[in-house]
Amino acid sequence: MLVVKKFGGTSVANAERIMNVAKRCIEDYQKGNDVVVVLSAMGKYTDELIEKAKEVNPKPPKREMDMLFTIGEQMSVALMAMAMDKLGVRAISLNAFQVAMHTTSAYGNARLKRIDSERIRHELDDRKIVIVTGFQGVNKYDDYTTLGRGGSDTTAVALAAALHADACEIYTDVNGVYTADPRLVPKARKLDAITYDEMLDLATLGAGVLHNRSVEMAKKYGVRLVVRSSLNNSEGTVVKEDVKVERMLISGVALDREADRISVIGLRDEPGVAFKLFDALAKKNINVDVILQSIGRDGTKDISFTVADTNADEAFQVLQDNKARLAFKDIKVKKEVAKLSIVGAGMMSNPGVAAKMFECLYNAGININMISTSEIRVTVLIDEDEGERAINAVHDAFGLDE
Ligand code: ADP
Ligand code: ASP
Ligand code: MG
Repeated sequence: MLVVKKFGGTSVANAERIMNVAKRCIEDYQKGNDVVVVLSAMGKYTDELIEKAKEVNPKPPKREMDMLFTIGEQMSVALMAMAMDKLGVRAISLNAFQVAMHTTSAYGNARLKRIDSERIRHELDDRKIVIVTGFQGVNKYDDYTTLGRGGSDTTAVALAAALHADACEIYTDVNGVYTADPRLVPKARKLDAITYDEMLDLATLGAGVLHNRSVEMAKKYGVRLVVRSSLNNSEGTVVKEDVKVERMLISGVALDREADRISVIGLRDEPGVAFKLFDALAKKNINVDVILQSIGRDGTKDISFTVADTNADEAFQVLQDNKARLAFKDIKVKKEVAKLSIVGAGMMSNPGVAAKMFECLYNAGININMISTSEIRVTVLIDEDEGERAINAVHDAFGLDE
Protein backbone atom coordinates (compact mmCIF):
# COMPACT_ATOMS: atom_id res chain seq x y z
CA MET A 1 0.00 0.00 0.00
CA LEU A 2 1.19 3.55 -0.75
CA VAL A 3 0.24 6.17 1.79
CA VAL A 4 0.65 9.96 1.61
CA LYS A 5 0.71 11.56 5.05
CA LYS A 6 0.64 15.34 5.46
CA PHE A 7 1.50 17.10 8.71
CA GLY A 8 0.74 20.78 9.26
CA GLY A 9 2.76 23.43 11.07
CA THR A 10 1.64 22.72 14.63
CA SER A 11 2.31 19.01 14.15
CA VAL A 12 6.01 19.71 13.46
CA ALA A 13 6.38 22.83 15.62
CA ASN A 14 9.34 21.59 17.69
CA ALA A 15 11.90 18.77 17.96
CA GLU A 16 9.67 16.64 20.17
CA ARG A 17 6.75 16.82 17.73
CA ILE A 18 9.04 16.09 14.81
CA MET A 19 10.22 12.92 16.59
CA ASN A 20 6.59 12.03 17.30
CA VAL A 21 5.62 12.44 13.63
CA ALA A 22 8.70 10.46 12.56
CA LYS A 23 7.64 7.57 14.79
CA ARG A 24 4.11 7.65 13.43
CA CYS A 25 5.35 7.46 9.86
CA ILE A 26 7.80 4.69 10.73
CA GLU A 27 4.98 2.58 12.19
CA ASP A 28 3.29 2.69 8.82
CA TYR A 29 6.53 1.99 6.97
CA GLN A 30 7.25 -1.02 9.15
CA LYS A 31 3.94 -2.55 8.16
CA GLY A 32 5.47 -2.79 4.70
CA ASN A 33 3.78 0.28 3.26
CA ASP A 34 5.39 2.83 0.97
CA VAL A 35 5.25 6.12 2.83
CA VAL A 36 5.39 9.64 1.37
CA VAL A 37 5.33 12.42 3.94
CA VAL A 38 4.39 16.02 3.09
CA LEU A 39 5.31 18.72 5.60
CA SER A 40 4.49 22.37 6.25
CA ALA A 41 6.86 24.87 7.81
CA MET A 42 7.31 24.55 11.57
CA GLY A 43 4.69 26.29 13.74
CA LYS A 44 4.13 29.87 12.61
CA TYR A 45 7.37 30.06 10.66
CA THR A 46 5.67 31.19 7.43
CA ASP A 47 4.15 34.15 9.31
CA GLU A 48 7.56 34.96 10.76
CA LEU A 49 9.03 35.00 7.27
CA ILE A 50 6.38 37.50 6.19
CA GLU A 51 7.33 39.70 9.16
CA LYS A 52 10.99 39.47 8.24
CA ALA A 53 10.28 40.45 4.66
CA LYS A 54 8.21 43.43 5.75
CA GLU A 55 11.03 44.73 7.93
CA VAL A 56 13.01 45.14 4.73
CA ASN A 57 10.25 46.03 2.29
CA PRO A 58 6.57 46.51 3.18
CA LYS A 59 5.60 45.47 -0.36
CA PRO A 60 8.05 42.70 -1.22
CA PRO A 61 8.12 41.40 -4.81
CA LYS A 62 6.06 38.20 -5.02
CA ARG A 63 8.86 36.23 -6.63
CA GLU A 64 11.24 37.00 -3.78
CA MET A 65 8.53 36.24 -1.25
CA ASP A 66 8.22 32.74 -2.68
CA MET A 67 11.98 32.34 -2.65
CA LEU A 68 11.85 33.18 1.05
CA PHE A 69 8.82 31.00 1.86
CA THR A 70 10.40 27.85 0.49
CA ILE A 71 13.01 27.75 3.25
CA GLY A 72 10.28 27.07 5.82
CA GLU A 73 9.15 23.78 4.31
CA GLN A 74 12.72 22.89 3.41
CA MET A 75 13.75 23.15 7.04
CA SER A 76 10.93 20.83 8.13
CA VAL A 77 11.71 18.08 5.63
CA ALA A 78 15.44 18.10 6.35
CA LEU A 79 14.84 17.88 10.10
CA MET A 80 12.31 15.09 9.59
CA ALA A 81 14.79 13.06 7.55
CA MET A 82 17.34 13.58 10.33
CA ALA A 83 14.81 12.40 12.92
CA MET A 84 14.12 9.24 10.94
CA ASP A 85 17.82 8.63 10.51
CA LYS A 86 18.19 8.87 14.29
CA LEU A 87 15.45 6.25 14.63
CA GLY A 88 17.36 3.98 12.27
CA VAL A 89 15.10 4.23 9.21
CA ARG A 90 16.16 5.16 5.71
CA ALA A 91 14.53 8.41 4.64
CA ILE A 92 15.19 11.17 2.13
CA SER A 93 13.94 14.76 1.96
CA LEU A 94 13.09 16.33 -1.39
CA ASN A 95 12.07 19.88 -2.25
CA ALA A 96 9.79 20.92 -5.11
CA PHE A 97 12.74 21.24 -7.48
CA GLN A 98 14.11 17.81 -6.73
CA VAL A 99 10.75 16.11 -7.16
CA ALA A 100 9.85 18.42 -9.96
CA MET A 101 6.47 19.83 -9.01
CA HIS A 102 5.56 21.98 -12.00
CA THR A 103 3.22 24.89 -11.42
CA THR A 104 1.82 27.87 -13.27
CA SER A 105 3.97 30.96 -13.01
CA ALA A 106 1.77 33.00 -10.64
CA TYR A 107 4.00 33.67 -7.65
CA GLY A 108 2.18 33.36 -4.35
CA ASN A 109 -0.85 31.73 -5.89
CA ALA A 110 0.44 29.11 -8.31
CA ARG A 111 -1.49 26.05 -9.42
CA LEU A 112 0.08 22.62 -9.72
CA LYS A 113 0.19 21.48 -13.34
CA ARG A 114 2.21 18.29 -13.30
CA ILE A 115 4.31 16.27 -10.90
CA ASP A 116 7.16 14.08 -12.06
CA SER A 117 6.90 10.94 -10.01
CA GLU A 118 10.05 9.06 -11.11
CA ARG A 119 12.35 10.33 -8.41
CA ILE A 120 9.86 9.57 -5.65
CA ARG A 121 9.13 6.11 -7.09
CA HIS A 122 12.81 5.39 -7.31
CA GLU A 123 13.39 6.31 -3.66
CA LEU A 124 10.34 4.31 -2.55
CA ASP A 125 11.60 1.28 -4.49
CA ASP A 126 14.81 1.72 -2.55
CA ARG A 127 12.68 1.32 0.63
CA LYS A 128 13.10 4.89 1.81
CA ILE A 129 10.49 7.08 3.41
CA VAL A 130 10.20 10.07 1.08
CA ILE A 131 9.64 13.44 2.75
CA VAL A 132 8.47 16.21 0.44
CA THR A 133 8.12 19.96 1.00
CA GLY A 134 4.50 21.11 0.95
CA PHE A 135 3.25 24.45 -0.40
CA GLN A 136 6.00 24.99 -3.00
CA GLY A 137 6.44 24.37 -6.70
CA VAL A 138 8.61 25.37 -9.63
CA ASN A 139 7.44 27.36 -12.65
CA LYS A 140 8.58 27.42 -16.27
CA TYR A 141 11.31 29.93 -15.47
CA ASP A 142 12.76 27.45 -12.94
CA ASP A 143 11.69 29.81 -10.15
CA TYR A 144 10.11 28.71 -6.92
CA THR A 145 6.41 29.40 -6.55
CA THR A 146 3.98 28.79 -3.70
CA LEU A 147 0.40 27.53 -3.79
CA GLY A 148 -1.23 30.08 -1.47
CA ARG A 149 -1.45 29.97 2.32
CA GLY A 150 -2.35 26.54 3.61
CA GLY A 151 -1.25 25.01 0.31
CA SER A 152 0.57 22.00 1.73
CA ASP A 153 -2.74 20.13 1.79
CA THR A 154 -2.89 20.56 -1.97
CA THR A 155 0.65 19.25 -2.39
CA ALA A 156 -0.37 16.13 -0.47
CA VAL A 157 -3.49 15.49 -2.52
CA ALA A 158 -1.67 16.14 -5.79
CA LEU A 159 1.04 13.67 -4.82
CA ALA A 160 -1.57 11.11 -3.79
CA ALA A 161 -3.21 11.51 -7.20
CA ALA A 162 0.07 11.41 -9.15
CA LEU A 163 1.32 8.33 -7.29
CA HIS A 164 -2.09 6.62 -7.27
CA ALA A 165 -1.79 6.37 -3.50
CA ASP A 166 -4.13 4.09 -1.59
CA ALA A 167 -4.67 6.69 1.13
CA CYS A 168 -4.14 10.40 1.73
CA GLU A 169 -4.11 11.37 5.38
CA ILE A 170 -4.08 15.01 6.49
CA TYR A 171 -2.84 15.25 10.08
CA THR A 172 -3.58 18.45 11.95
CA ASP A 173 -4.15 19.93 15.39
CA VAL A 174 -7.85 19.05 15.68
CA ASN A 175 -9.53 15.62 15.55
CA GLY A 176 -11.07 16.12 12.11
CA VAL A 177 -13.56 18.33 10.32
CA TYR A 178 -16.07 19.84 12.73
CA THR A 179 -19.50 21.39 12.22
CA ALA A 180 -17.71 24.72 12.78
CA ASP A 181 -14.24 25.90 13.75
CA PRO A 182 -13.91 24.47 17.30
CA ARG A 183 -11.85 27.51 18.27
CA LEU A 184 -14.83 29.76 17.56
CA VAL A 185 -17.69 27.45 18.43
CA PRO A 186 -16.96 25.46 21.59
CA LYS A 187 -20.00 23.23 20.96
CA ALA A 188 -18.86 22.21 17.47
CA ARG A 189 -19.09 18.48 16.80
CA LYS A 190 -16.68 16.34 14.83
CA LEU A 191 -18.11 14.85 11.62
CA ASP A 192 -17.38 11.24 10.69
CA ALA A 193 -17.73 11.98 6.99
CA ILE A 194 -18.40 14.86 4.63
CA THR A 195 -18.82 15.08 0.84
CA TYR A 196 -16.27 16.77 -1.42
CA ASP A 197 -18.79 19.43 -2.40
CA GLU A 198 -19.67 20.34 1.15
CA MET A 199 -16.03 20.37 2.20
CA LEU A 200 -15.11 22.48 -0.81
CA ASP A 201 -17.67 25.11 0.12
CA LEU A 202 -16.70 25.09 3.79
CA ALA A 203 -13.01 25.38 2.93
CA THR A 204 -13.63 28.18 0.45
CA LEU A 205 -15.83 30.03 2.93
CA GLY A 206 -13.44 30.12 5.83
CA ALA A 207 -13.04 26.65 7.35
CA GLY A 208 -9.25 26.74 7.20
CA VAL A 209 -8.86 23.09 8.16
CA LEU A 210 -8.25 22.20 4.48
CA HIS A 211 -6.90 24.28 1.60
CA ASN A 212 -9.84 24.58 -0.80
CA ARG A 213 -7.81 23.54 -3.84
CA SER A 214 -6.85 20.32 -2.10
CA VAL A 215 -10.54 19.43 -1.91
CA GLU A 216 -11.11 20.46 -5.52
CA MET A 217 -8.27 18.20 -6.58
CA ALA A 218 -9.36 15.33 -4.35
CA LYS A 219 -12.79 15.44 -5.99
CA LYS A 220 -11.35 15.63 -9.48
CA TYR A 221 -9.06 12.64 -9.02
CA GLY A 222 -11.23 10.72 -6.58
CA VAL A 223 -8.67 10.86 -3.78
CA ARG A 224 -10.32 9.79 -0.55
CA LEU A 225 -9.09 12.13 2.18
CA VAL A 226 -8.90 11.51 5.88
CA VAL A 227 -8.46 14.48 8.20
CA ARG A 228 -7.24 13.49 11.65
CA SER A 229 -5.17 14.55 14.63
CA SER A 230 -1.40 14.18 14.79
CA LEU A 231 -1.62 14.25 18.59
CA ASN A 232 -3.90 11.25 19.20
CA ASN A 233 -5.23 8.16 17.43
CA SER A 234 -8.87 9.13 17.02
CA GLU A 235 -10.68 8.24 13.80
CA GLY A 236 -10.87 11.57 12.03
CA THR A 237 -13.18 12.63 9.20
CA VAL A 238 -13.41 11.05 5.77
CA VAL A 239 -13.91 13.40 2.81
CA LYS A 240 -15.40 11.52 -0.15
CA GLU A 241 -17.97 11.63 -2.93
CA ASP A 242 -20.95 10.10 -1.20
CA VAL A 243 -21.87 10.14 2.42
CA LYS A 244 -24.44 7.51 3.27
CA VAL A 245 -25.54 8.64 6.66
CA GLU A 246 -28.82 10.23 7.56
CA ARG A 247 -28.62 13.70 6.10
CA MET A 248 -28.50 16.59 8.45
CA LEU A 249 -30.16 19.71 7.11
CA ILE A 250 -26.76 21.36 7.10
CA SER A 251 -23.30 19.92 7.72
CA GLY A 252 -21.39 22.94 8.87
CA VAL A 253 -21.07 26.65 9.45
CA ALA A 254 -18.06 28.74 8.45
CA LEU A 255 -16.95 32.26 9.21
CA ASP A 256 -14.54 34.16 6.99
CA ARG A 257 -13.22 37.27 8.69
CA GLU A 258 -10.74 37.91 5.93
CA ALA A 259 -13.32 39.40 3.57
CA ASP A 260 -13.57 43.07 2.62
CA ARG A 261 -16.52 44.71 0.89
CA ILE A 262 -16.00 47.05 -2.04
CA SER A 263 -18.89 49.21 -3.23
CA VAL A 264 -18.70 50.97 -6.58
CA ILE A 265 -21.21 53.78 -6.50
CA GLY A 266 -22.96 55.56 -9.36
CA LEU A 267 -22.16 53.32 -12.32
CA ARG A 268 -24.09 53.90 -15.52
CA ASP A 269 -27.15 51.66 -15.71
CA GLU A 270 -26.45 50.18 -19.15
CA PRO A 271 -25.33 46.86 -20.68
CA GLY A 272 -21.69 45.83 -20.26
CA VAL A 273 -20.94 47.69 -17.03
CA ALA A 274 -20.67 44.61 -14.81
CA PHE A 275 -18.61 42.89 -17.47
CA LYS A 276 -16.10 45.73 -17.70
CA LEU A 277 -15.81 46.01 -13.95
CA PHE A 278 -15.26 42.33 -13.19
CA ASP A 279 -13.14 41.78 -16.27
CA ALA A 280 -10.70 44.44 -15.08
CA LEU A 281 -10.41 42.61 -11.76
CA ALA A 282 -10.16 39.16 -13.34
CA LYS A 283 -7.30 40.32 -15.56
CA LYS A 284 -5.36 41.03 -12.37
CA ASN A 285 -6.23 37.60 -10.96
CA ILE A 286 -8.45 39.07 -8.26
CA ASN A 287 -11.16 36.70 -7.08
CA VAL A 288 -14.52 38.24 -6.41
CA ASP A 289 -17.13 36.64 -4.23
CA VAL A 290 -20.58 37.74 -3.05
CA ILE A 291 -21.93 40.26 -5.56
CA LEU A 292 -24.86 42.61 -5.13
CA GLN A 293 -26.17 45.01 -7.74
CA SER A 294 -28.71 47.63 -6.79
CA ILE A 295 -31.77 48.33 -8.89
CA GLY A 296 -31.04 51.18 -11.30
CA ARG A 297 -32.19 54.64 -10.30
CA ASP A 298 -31.89 57.83 -12.38
CA GLY A 299 -29.74 56.00 -14.91
CA THR A 300 -27.18 54.88 -12.35
CA LYS A 301 -26.63 51.80 -10.23
CA ASP A 302 -24.23 50.54 -7.53
CA ILE A 303 -22.34 47.24 -7.47
CA SER A 304 -20.93 45.82 -4.26
CA PHE A 305 -18.80 42.70 -3.93
CA THR A 306 -16.39 41.03 -1.55
CA VAL A 307 -12.72 40.20 -2.04
CA ALA A 308 -10.10 38.64 0.23
CA ASP A 309 -8.56 41.36 2.40
CA THR A 310 -5.14 40.64 0.88
CA ASN A 311 -6.58 41.71 -2.49
CA ALA A 312 -8.57 44.76 -1.38
CA ASP A 313 -5.88 47.40 -1.97
CA GLU A 314 -5.06 46.04 -5.39
CA ALA A 315 -8.76 45.81 -6.32
CA PHE A 316 -9.25 49.43 -5.27
CA GLN A 317 -6.29 50.48 -7.39
CA VAL A 318 -7.47 48.52 -10.45
CA LEU A 319 -10.86 50.23 -10.25
CA GLN A 320 -9.29 53.66 -9.84
CA ASP A 321 -7.05 53.00 -12.83
CA ASN A 322 -10.18 52.18 -14.86
CA LYS A 323 -12.23 55.06 -13.57
CA ALA A 324 -12.61 56.76 -16.94
CA ARG A 325 -13.74 53.55 -18.62
CA LEU A 326 -16.10 52.46 -15.87
CA ALA A 327 -17.44 55.96 -15.19
CA PHE A 328 -18.42 55.57 -11.54
CA LYS A 329 -18.79 58.29 -8.93
CA ASP A 330 -17.14 56.75 -5.89
CA ILE A 331 -15.64 53.60 -4.40
CA LYS A 332 -16.03 52.61 -0.76
CA VAL A 333 -14.05 49.86 0.95
CA LYS A 334 -15.33 48.37 4.18
CA LYS A 335 -12.88 46.10 5.97
CA GLU A 336 -14.83 45.26 9.12
CA VAL A 337 -17.11 42.70 7.49
CA ALA A 338 -17.27 38.90 7.74
CA LYS A 339 -18.92 36.21 5.65
CA LEU A 340 -21.01 33.70 7.52
CA SER A 341 -22.06 30.60 5.60
CA ILE A 342 -24.09 27.49 6.19
CA VAL A 343 -23.31 24.49 4.00
CA GLY A 344 -25.12 21.23 3.49
CA ALA A 345 -26.25 18.93 0.71
CA GLY A 346 -29.43 18.39 2.76
CA MET A 347 -30.65 21.87 1.91
CA MET A 348 -31.30 20.94 -1.73
CA SER A 349 -34.44 19.05 -0.77
CA ASN A 350 -35.49 21.23 2.14
CA PRO A 351 -36.98 24.63 1.48
CA GLY A 352 -36.82 27.15 4.28
CA VAL A 353 -33.21 26.63 5.29
CA ALA A 354 -32.21 30.16 4.33
CA ALA A 355 -35.24 31.59 6.11
CA LYS A 356 -34.27 29.70 9.24
CA MET A 357 -30.79 31.24 9.13
CA PHE A 358 -32.18 34.75 8.61
CA GLU A 359 -34.65 34.27 11.46
CA CYS A 360 -31.86 33.21 13.77
CA LEU A 361 -29.81 36.30 12.88
CA TYR A 362 -32.88 38.48 13.33
CA ASN A 363 -33.47 37.02 16.78
CA ALA A 364 -29.84 37.76 17.62
CA GLY A 365 -30.25 41.33 16.37
CA ILE A 366 -27.62 40.89 13.67
CA ASN A 367 -28.01 42.86 10.45
CA ILE A 368 -27.39 41.24 7.07
CA ASN A 369 -25.52 43.36 4.49
CA MET A 370 -25.50 41.01 1.51
CA ILE A 371 -26.75 37.52 0.67
CA SER A 372 -25.62 34.90 -1.78
CA THR A 373 -26.76 31.32 -2.21
CA SER A 374 -26.09 28.13 -4.13
CA GLU A 375 -27.80 24.74 -4.07
CA ILE A 376 -25.92 23.68 -0.97
CA ARG A 377 -24.94 26.96 0.66
CA VAL A 378 -26.23 30.26 2.01
CA THR A 379 -23.75 33.07 2.68
CA VAL A 380 -24.47 36.37 4.40
CA LEU A 381 -22.23 39.35 4.91
CA ILE A 382 -22.35 40.77 8.42
CA ASP A 383 -20.32 43.13 10.61
CA GLU A 384 -17.09 41.51 11.65
CA ASP A 385 -17.43 42.19 15.36
CA GLU A 386 -20.67 40.18 15.38
CA GLY A 387 -19.11 37.21 13.62
CA GLU A 388 -18.38 35.02 16.60
CA ARG A 389 -21.79 35.59 18.17
CA ALA A 390 -23.48 34.96 14.82
CA ILE A 391 -21.71 31.67 14.08
CA ASN A 392 -22.55 30.34 17.54
CA ALA A 393 -26.19 31.42 17.22
CA VAL A 394 -26.59 29.78 13.80
CA HIS A 395 -24.80 26.62 14.95
CA ASP A 396 -27.28 26.41 17.83
CA ALA A 397 -30.33 27.19 15.71
CA PHE A 398 -29.62 24.26 13.41
CA GLY A 399 -28.98 21.94 16.34
CA LEU A 400 -25.50 21.05 15.07
CA ASP A 401 -24.18 20.21 18.53
CA GLU A 402 -26.68 17.40 19.05
P1 ADP B 1 -2.34 22.77 9.73
O1 ADP B 1 -1.20 23.62 10.18
O2 ADP B 1 -2.31 21.39 10.30
O3 ADP B 1 -2.55 22.80 8.26
P2 ADP B 1 -4.54 24.63 10.04
O4 ADP B 1 -4.38 25.68 11.08
O5 ADP B 1 -4.31 25.00 8.62
O6 ADP B 1 -3.61 23.40 10.45
O7 ADP B 1 -5.99 23.97 10.15
C1 ADP B 1 -6.45 23.47 11.37
C2 ADP B 1 -7.32 24.51 12.05
O8 ADP B 1 -8.47 24.75 11.25
C3 ADP B 1 -7.89 24.09 13.37
O9 ADP B 1 -7.00 24.37 14.43
C4 ADP B 1 -9.19 24.88 13.47
O10 ADP B 1 -9.09 25.98 14.34
C5 ADP B 1 -9.43 25.40 12.07
N1 ADP B 1 -10.77 25.10 11.56
C6 ADP B 1 -11.58 26.00 10.93
N2 ADP B 1 -12.74 25.45 10.61
C7 ADP B 1 -12.71 24.17 11.02
C8 ADP B 1 -13.63 23.07 10.95
N3 ADP B 1 -14.85 23.20 10.39
N4 ADP B 1 -13.25 21.89 11.48
C9 ADP B 1 -12.04 21.75 12.04
N5 ADP B 1 -11.13 22.74 12.14
C10 ADP B 1 -11.45 23.94 11.65
N1 ASP C 1 3.45 26.92 5.48
C1 ASP C 1 2.42 27.37 4.59
C2 ASP C 1 1.47 28.31 5.32
O1 ASP C 1 1.65 28.58 6.50
C3 ASP C 1 1.68 26.24 3.93
C4 ASP C 1 0.87 25.36 4.84
O2 ASP C 1 1.01 25.41 6.06
O3 ASP C 1 0.10 24.57 4.32
O4 ASP C 1 0.56 28.81 4.73
MG1 MG D 1 -3.52 24.08 6.94
